[in-house]
Amino acid sequence: MSDPNTPDTSEVREIRINPIVPSESVLVATARSMRPKKAEELAPRDTRKHVETCPFCRGNEHKTPPVILAWPPQGDWQIRMVENLYPVLGDDRAQANFTFGLQQTIDGYGRHEVIIDHHEHGIAIHDMAESHLAALFGVYQARMKQLFASDDRLKYVLVFKNFGPAAGASIPHTHSQVIAMPVVPENVDAEVKNSAAHYAKHHHCIFCALIDEALTFEATLYDRNSGAVRRKINVGQYVVERGEKFIAIKPFASRYEWEVHILPLAHQADFLDVRAEDLDDLARVMKRTMARLEAVIGGAQYNFFLHSVPHDAQRDAHAPSYHWHLEICPRTSIPTGFELGSGLFVNTINPEQAAERLRAVEL
Ligand SMILES: [Zn+2]
Ligand SMILES: [Zn+2]
Ligand SMILES: [Zn+2]
Repeated sequence: MSDPNTPDTSEVREIRINPIVPSESVLVATARSMRPKKAEELAPRDTRKHVETCPFCRGNEHKTPPVILAWPPQGDWQIRMVENLYPVLGDDRAQANFTFGLQQTIDGYGRHEVIIDHHEHGIAIHDMAESHLAALFGVYQARMKQLFASDDRLKYVLVFKNFGPAAGASIPHTHSQVIAMPVVPENVDAEVKNSAAHYAKHHHCIFCALIDEALTFEATLYDRNSGAVRRKINVGQYVVERGEKFIAIKPFASRYEWEVHILPLAHQADFLDVRAEDLDDLARVMKRTMARLEAVIGGAQYNFFLHSVPHDAQRDAHAPSYHWHLEICPRTSIPTGFELGSGLFVNTINPEQAAERLRAVEL
């Protein structure tokens, strides 16, 4: 019988430093004592294909704000983009920045738009056809291009999706959002600056290095004092899904238990540079990754968002060092006071084991 006072050696309790943004470190604590993180509720899966009263369903087009674009442009739409009824950032306002002492503001200039991902009300990403997902990524690209071209005050266009009420989705019909803003979000800025500093020192992209490590790293970590083996890192330990051009990996310092990132295998800073013919492979990796997540944590609420090189004055300077990616963050637990108070995320599942469980799903 095992002694409850003897620590289980398979337990991990360590602070993992995010290699790109060191301030976003994670406490990986798989010990039982750390478990009572409250589980987030599953999102009620509304699987209906059509809902008469839903403003985003076909036939209710008159209930949405004006349409921005539709795909395909002729015939029945499958993807439709509209203005947001309750934008967090608004159109031009002739309002001077309010500045007083330490109270600095930037006016809320920007765009906030909604993309109805699919004409079917409750369809999940992993149930969408690959060709549809490729078209959806194409719509993201097309709108980002238009927005950047429309106004050079816009420095960043954030594309993201919320699924489930805790993840911020207020309308059950599947949709993503686009927010164009005059500033670069702080977390993207930290990634951009830190990867540029890494590039200046090591002359390679840190994201490319992480992909190489995820694919081929093989190492044994020894205890400095006793010389005992502490951990073996195996080939491909962090790979969740691999396509021809894209890869899905489980970050070593994952903030969320089931967080997965998708990146282009070849270096590329700007999502807008993905060629149309490569969107199919991106769609395939995305669909398969979401299907793996569904098999392991079915019905979980999630967010995903695109991080791409900002279109500010430094865009070209940052192109060699920054690498665009899609972050998928399932919400399986509610942040605790410890997390909110310390800024340190607690991950109660060993990322290597999470990656293994996702890989083991038979599709
Ligand atoms: Zn609907
Ligand atoms: Zn790279
Ligand atoms: Zn990122």
